[in-house]
Amino acid sequence: MTASAFKHASDETLQRYACGNLKPGLALVMRVHLAGCLSCRANLRRFEAVGGALLDNLPPAAISPALLEKIFARIDAGDTPREARPTPVLTADGFALPAAMAGCKIGPWRFVHPKLRWARVEVPGAETDRVILLKIAAGFAAPAHGHGGLELTQVLAGGFTDGRAQYEPGDLVEADESLDDHEPRVTGDEDCLCLAAVEKPLRIRSLLGRLFQPLMGI
Ligand SMILES: [Zn+2]
Repeated sequence: MTASAFKHASDETLQRYACGNLKPGLALVMRVHLAGCLSCRANLRRFEAVGGALLDNLPPAAISPALLEKIFARIDAGDTPREARPTPVLTADGFALPAAMAGCKIGPWRFVHPKLRWARVEVPGAETDRVILLKIAAGFAAPAHGHGGLELTQVLAGGFTDGRAQYEPGDLVEADESLDDHEPRVTGDEDCLCLAAVEKPLRIRSLLGRLFQPLMGI
Protein backbone atom coordinates (compact mmCIF):
# COMPACT_ATOMS: atom_id res chain seq x y z
CA MET A 1 0.00 0.00 0.00
CA THR A 2 1.43 3.43 -0.91
CA ALA A 3 1.69 6.18 1.70
CA SER A 4 -0.99 8.23 -0.13
CA ALA A 5 -3.50 5.37 0.34
CA PHE A 6 -3.42 6.05 4.08
CA LYS A 7 -4.69 9.62 3.58
CA HIS A 8 -8.15 8.73 2.30
CA ALA A 9 -11.18 6.74 3.38
CA SER A 10 -10.95 3.00 2.75
CA ASP A 11 -13.51 1.33 0.49
CA GLU A 12 -14.97 -0.39 3.55
CA THR A 13 -15.52 2.91 5.37
CA LEU A 14 -16.99 4.59 2.27
CA GLN A 15 -19.36 1.65 1.90
CA ARG A 16 -20.45 1.90 5.53
CA TYR A 17 -20.96 5.66 5.09
CA ALA A 18 -22.98 5.17 1.88
CA CYS A 19 -25.25 2.67 3.69
CA GLY A 20 -25.70 4.91 6.73
CA ASN A 21 -23.85 2.39 8.90
CA LEU A 22 -21.36 4.77 10.49
CA LYS A 23 -22.14 6.28 13.87
CA PRO A 24 -22.94 10.01 13.61
CA GLY A 25 -19.57 11.01 15.11
CA LEU A 26 -17.62 9.02 12.53
CA ALA A 27 -19.98 10.23 9.77
CA LEU A 28 -19.20 13.82 10.79
CA VAL A 29 -15.47 13.24 10.24
CA MET A 30 -16.31 11.66 6.87
CA ARG A 31 -18.41 14.69 5.85
CA VAL A 32 -15.54 17.02 6.72
CA HIS A 33 -13.13 14.91 4.65
CA LEU A 34 -15.51 14.43 1.72
CA ALA A 35 -16.16 18.17 1.47
CA GLY A 36 -12.50 18.66 0.52
CA CYS A 37 -11.62 15.39 -1.23
CA LEU A 38 -12.61 14.83 -4.85
CA SER A 39 -11.11 11.37 -4.90
CA CYS A 40 -13.18 10.06 -1.97
CA ARG A 41 -16.32 11.79 -3.32
CA ALA A 42 -15.83 9.96 -6.64
CA ASN A 43 -15.37 6.65 -4.81
CA LEU A 44 -18.43 7.30 -2.67
CA ARG A 45 -20.57 7.78 -5.80
CA ARG A 46 -19.50 4.31 -6.95
CA PHE A 47 -20.74 2.74 -3.72
CA GLU A 48 -23.96 4.75 -3.77
CA ALA A 49 -24.55 3.58 -7.35
CA VAL A 50 -23.97 -0.05 -6.32
CA GLY A 51 -26.30 0.37 -3.33
CA GLY A 52 -28.95 1.93 -5.57
CA ALA A 53 -28.65 -0.92 -8.10
CA LEU A 54 -29.02 -3.50 -5.33
CA LEU A 55 -32.14 -1.78 -4.03
CA ASP A 56 -33.58 -1.63 -7.58
CA ASN A 57 -33.17 -5.40 -7.93
CA LEU A 58 -34.78 -6.30 -4.63
CA PRO A 59 -38.41 -7.30 -4.47
CA PRO A 60 -40.26 -4.64 -2.43
CA ALA A 61 -40.93 -7.05 0.45
CA ALA A 62 -37.21 -7.60 0.96
CA ILE A 63 -36.71 -4.06 2.28
CA SER A 64 -37.46 -4.10 5.95
CA PRO A 65 -39.67 -1.34 7.37
CA ALA A 66 -36.77 -0.40 9.69
CA LEU A 67 -34.43 0.16 6.72
CA LEU A 68 -37.07 2.16 4.85
CA GLU A 69 -37.60 4.30 7.91
CA LYS A 70 -33.85 4.91 8.09
CA ILE A 71 -33.68 5.89 4.41
CA PHE A 72 -36.63 8.27 4.71
CA ALA A 73 -35.16 9.77 7.89
CA ARG A 74 -31.93 10.51 6.02
CA ILE A 75 -33.85 12.08 3.14
CA ASP A 76 -35.94 14.14 5.58
CA ALA A 77 -32.81 15.28 7.40
CA GLY A 78 -31.34 16.40 4.10
CA ASP A 79 -28.42 14.06 4.77
CA THR A 80 -27.21 13.86 1.21
CA PRO A 81 -23.48 13.24 1.46
CA ARG A 82 -22.79 14.52 -2.07
CA GLU A 83 -23.81 18.08 -1.31
CA ALA A 84 -22.17 20.26 1.26
CA ARG A 85 -24.91 22.40 2.75
CA PRO A 86 -24.03 26.08 2.98
CA THR A 87 -23.36 26.75 6.63
CA PRO A 88 -21.60 29.45 8.60
CA VAL A 89 -18.00 28.76 9.45
CA LEU A 90 -17.26 28.42 13.16
CA THR A 91 -13.98 29.22 14.76
CA ALA A 92 -12.28 27.47 17.65
CA ASP A 93 -9.35 29.05 19.40
CA GLY A 94 -8.14 30.94 16.34
CA PHE A 95 -8.66 28.09 13.90
CA ALA A 96 -11.39 28.11 11.28
CA LEU A 97 -13.47 24.98 11.56
CA PRO A 98 -14.94 23.24 8.51
CA ALA A 99 -18.45 24.28 7.51
CA ALA A 100 -19.54 20.63 7.88
CA MET A 101 -19.10 21.05 11.66
CA ALA A 102 -21.70 23.80 11.91
CA GLY A 103 -24.43 22.76 14.33
CA CYS A 104 -21.96 20.85 16.50
CA LYS A 105 -21.41 22.10 20.00
CA ILE A 106 -17.72 22.60 20.81
CA GLY A 107 -16.87 22.29 24.49
CA PRO A 108 -14.22 24.36 26.26
CA TRP A 109 -10.56 23.66 25.51
CA ARG A 110 -8.97 21.59 28.23
CA PHE A 111 -5.34 20.85 28.93
CA VAL A 112 -4.09 17.34 29.51
CA HIS A 113 -0.51 18.51 29.23
CA PRO A 114 0.79 21.97 28.28
CA LYS A 115 1.32 20.65 24.74
CA LEU A 116 -1.88 18.67 24.41
CA ARG A 117 -5.30 20.30 24.40
CA TRP A 118 -8.66 18.90 23.51
CA ALA A 119 -12.28 19.95 23.25
CA ARG A 120 -15.30 17.72 23.09
CA VAL A 121 -17.46 17.92 19.98
CA GLU A 122 -21.14 17.21 20.46
CA VAL A 123 -22.82 16.02 17.30
CA PRO A 124 -26.53 16.97 17.29
CA GLY A 125 -28.61 13.92 18.21
CA ALA A 126 -25.53 11.86 19.10
CA GLU A 127 -24.11 13.63 22.13
CA THR A 128 -22.48 10.50 23.54
CA ASP A 129 -20.45 9.72 20.41
CA ARG A 130 -16.72 9.96 21.07
CA VAL A 131 -15.65 12.96 19.00
CA ILE A 132 -12.96 15.47 19.92
CA LEU A 133 -10.90 18.30 18.53
CA LEU A 134 -7.29 17.65 19.44
CA LYS A 135 -4.58 20.27 19.37
CA ILE A 136 -1.02 19.10 19.75
CA ALA A 137 2.02 21.38 19.85
CA ALA A 138 4.82 21.09 17.32
CA GLY A 139 7.21 18.24 18.12
CA PHE A 140 4.86 16.61 20.64
CA ALA A 141 3.29 13.18 20.21
CA ALA A 142 -0.20 11.98 21.09
CA PRO A 143 -0.12 9.07 23.54
CA ALA A 144 0.58 5.70 21.93
CA HIS A 145 -2.66 3.78 21.57
CA GLY A 146 -4.35 0.84 19.97
CA HIS A 147 -7.94 0.61 18.78
CA GLY A 148 -10.99 -1.44 19.66
CA GLY A 149 -12.76 -0.32 16.50
CA LEU A 150 -12.60 2.28 13.76
CA GLU A 151 -10.84 5.60 14.45
CA LEU A 152 -11.12 8.44 11.91
CA THR A 153 -8.89 11.50 12.19
CA GLN A 154 -9.14 14.47 9.84
CA VAL A 155 -6.18 16.86 9.83
CA LEU A 156 -7.45 20.45 9.99
CA ALA A 157 -4.16 22.31 10.48
CA GLY A 158 -0.48 21.47 10.87
CA GLY A 159 0.75 17.97 10.17
CA PHE A 160 1.85 14.73 11.80
CA THR A 161 3.36 11.37 11.05
CA ASP A 162 2.47 7.96 12.46
CA GLY A 163 5.26 6.02 10.80
CA ARG A 164 3.05 5.02 7.86
CA ALA A 165 2.77 8.42 6.17
CA GLN A 166 3.15 12.17 6.66
CA TYR A 167 -0.29 13.76 6.98
CA GLU A 168 -1.24 17.31 5.99
CA PRO A 169 -4.45 19.37 6.29
CA GLY A 170 -7.25 17.68 4.36
CA ASP A 171 -5.90 14.16 4.93
CA LEU A 172 -8.02 11.51 6.62
CA VAL A 173 -6.28 8.92 8.76
CA GLU A 174 -8.01 5.62 9.40
CA ALA A 175 -6.98 3.21 12.10
CA ASP A 176 -8.66 0.16 13.54
CA GLU A 177 -7.91 -2.95 15.58
CA SER A 178 -5.70 -4.31 12.78
CA LEU A 179 -3.18 -1.50 13.30
CA ASP A 180 -0.56 -1.97 16.02
CA ASP A 181 -0.24 0.79 18.58
CA HIS A 182 0.58 4.07 16.93
CA GLU A 183 1.95 7.29 18.36
CA PRO A 184 1.12 10.22 16.07
CA ARG A 185 3.90 12.83 16.26
CA VAL A 186 3.46 16.42 15.13
CA THR A 187 5.89 17.52 12.44
CA GLY A 188 6.85 21.03 11.33
CA ASP A 189 6.66 24.24 13.36
CA GLU A 190 2.88 24.62 13.46
CA ASP A 191 0.51 23.21 16.08
CA CYS A 192 -1.58 20.37 14.74
CA LEU A 193 -5.37 20.51 14.95
CA CYS A 194 -7.34 17.35 14.24
CA LEU A 195 -10.93 16.22 14.41
CA ALA A 196 -11.08 12.65 15.64
CA ALA A 197 -13.86 10.16 16.26
CA VAL A 198 -13.62 6.64 17.59
CA GLU A 199 -16.12 3.81 17.46
CA LYS A 200 -14.96 2.14 20.67
CA PRO A 201 -12.71 3.25 23.52
CA LEU A 202 -9.02 3.39 22.67
CA ARG A 203 -6.51 1.00 24.22
CA ILE A 204 -3.96 3.29 25.77
CA ARG A 205 -0.83 1.95 27.41
CA SER A 206 1.29 5.01 28.17
CA LEU A 207 1.04 6.68 31.57
CA LEU A 208 0.12 10.07 30.10
CA GLY A 209 -2.49 8.43 27.93
CA ARG A 210 -4.05 6.53 30.82
CA LEU A 211 -4.24 9.76 32.78
CA PHE A 212 -6.00 11.63 30.05
CA GLN A 213 -8.32 8.92 28.75
CA PRO A 214 -10.95 9.21 31.49
CA LEU A 215 -10.91 13.00 31.11
CA MET A 216 -11.54 12.88 27.42
CA GLY A 217 -14.01 10.04 27.43
CA ILE A 218 -12.40 8.32 24.44
ZN1 LIG B 1 -10.04 11.31 0.45
